[in-house]
Amino acid sequence: MRVTRKQLLFALFLLVVATVLTVSILAKPHPYPQPQSHPQPQPHPQKVIYIQPLGNVPPEYLTFLQQSVHSFYGYQCVVKPAVPLTPNLLAASQTRYEASKILLKYNSRQNLLLVTTQDIAHRKSATQPEYGIFGLDYRPGTTCVVSTFRLQRHVSRAKMLERLEKVALHEIGHNLGLPHCTLNKHCMMQAAQGTIKQVDLEKVWFCEACRAKLR
Ligand SMILES: [Zn+2]
Ligand SMILES: [Zn+2]
Repeated sequence: MRVTRKQLLFALFLLVVATVLTVSILAKPHPYPQPQSHPQPQPHPQKVIYIQPLGNVPPEYLTFLQQSVHSFYGYQCVVKPAVPLTPNLLAASQTRYEASKILLKYNSRQNLLLVTTQDIAHRKSATQPEYGIFGLDYRPGTTCVVSTFRLQRHVSRAKMLERLEKVALHEIGHNLGLPHCTLNKHCMMQAAQGTIKQVDLEKVWFCEACRAKLR
């Protein structure tokens, strides 16, 4: 069969059109995959911990605690407006506040972390002397109180906040039913026995045994 020059040119033209079409289809951008969302702490949908400032507490302490509690326990954390510490909550010495009176007054059905910069004290019975503490809690329960007063001596604000974080997470741990830990000296559920040295020895961490009790 004789192919004319015209037929050859037409065939070439068809080939060029087909090539251009194929390239343009292949080059079409594919739809972008949806951006992967960053992993977040798994929030407990119904679990909220309220933070209640007692008197004047610097907002940065509250924001810091809010973030710490959320990232450690995964609870939503809501800061409430401050309420004043009233004279009827003073301890027998009249120089500091009685932690058990604070707990009794504010004991809540909701999870509640009370925070004050004032010194708080405890005594084991009416005949025993009061002593200053970092925090007190109901165990198990919903309500605990922490004070920054004994956490801030001779240290930077960052160090004080690190201590505050550990004390608050410890007290909430008691609320959630955890006893003191005797297994690992770096576990936050160790009994501080009023010594800041023990708090400083701890990491923002629960040992495996304490973690297992939480579940
Ligand atoms: Zn404790
Ligand atoms: Zn432990």
